[in-house]
Amino acid sequence: KIRDILAKNEPTLSFEVFPPKTEDKYESVEMAASEIAKLNPAFMSVTYGAGGGTSQYTVDIAASLKAKGVTPLAHLTCVSSTREKVHSVLEQLKAEGIENVLALRGDIPKDGKVENDYRYASELIAEIKASGDFCIGAACYPEGHVESVNKTEDIQHLKEKVEAGCDFITAQMFFDNNTLYNFLYRIREKDIKVPVVAGIMPITNAAQAARSIQMSGCYIPARFKALVDRFGDNPAAMKQAGIAYATDQIIDLIANGVNAIHVYSMNKPDVAATNVLNFKEFAEKYPGHAVKNISQVIAELRM
Ligand code: FAD
Repeated sequence: KIRDILAKNEPTLSFEVFPPKTEDKYESVEMAASEIAKLNPAFMSVTYGAGGGTSQYTVDIAASLKAKGVTPLAHLTCVSSTREKVHSVLEQLKAEGIENVLALRGDIPKDGKVENDYRYASELIAEIKASGDFCIGAACYPEGHVESVNKTEDIQHLKEKVEAGCDFITAQMFFDNNTLYNFLYRIREKDIKVPVVAGIMPITNAAQAARSIQMSGCYIPARFKALVDRFGDNPAAMKQAGIAYATDQIIDLIANGVNAIHVYSMNKPDVAATNVLNFKEFAEKYPGHAVKNISQVIAELRM
């Protein structure tokens, strides 16, 4: 279970993949997931389509990862699902021996139409907890969830998720590590003690940068904006610069004691591999040291 992996509090890298929207894309997604699995991550998460229509692919890809020896984390959303649907997915996960679930509310669809069985992720967490021996994760938002009035209320609701039975929380992407450090301080002050997995999104092209920033509403440091301005129209340079930025974030996190790193690898094995290579080389070169040297990392990226 992921809670046992995180309990060791050693540096870990994990990756996220998303399932296909249609059957014809299944094979290519499964292949990308297999390539990423070869990097031997601590675990891999598989997202869940907002409406639940592609839930079978989430279960199938998680099961195929498990068969390859990787610990899978299956996402599950509830606001657009009936209780019956949620329980049928949980039964499928059990049948496949998948023990880790990331319990989410899901976004409210644009037309506002939701099922009425669940309002918040905390209700789903309580129900999963009562449904079997699952290790349960939940989402957290270092900058506050977009719908929340303020961070204090958002952290209060996060505490409700932890009290409902979640074992760890995974952070929404952020581009300034100080945002996470500040969040960690605030949640620990509220006695939220479960492990926090830091979510890092390597931005490898300008269009992705614009989309991710718009969707997440994340704070973008001037340093990152300059990078997109300078390299945005040069795909090869933007990719390298985006990976270097993410790698720098990861090294700084580990240097500051945030050991669980989850990379939003967007079904891109090459991006995932570069992060792993840098991480491994860095760990070998500086065992146990809090060293940060971005020029060295970039030099290694170019090798
Ligand atoms: P909740 O924890 O329920 O919170 C939603 C909002 O309600 C917050 O503003 C919170 O403060 C507020 N709230 C909570 N409880 C109460 C209460 N009792 N009273 C009043 N307000 C309350 N989406 C997908 O569709 N599929 C995925 O696979 C997926 N994976 C994700 C993985 C991660 C790591 C993250 C960070 C997000 C992911 N999402 C995914 C997006 C997520 O579904 C949305 O951000 C969604 O809007 C909120 O989900 P939640 O589980 O955080 O909701």
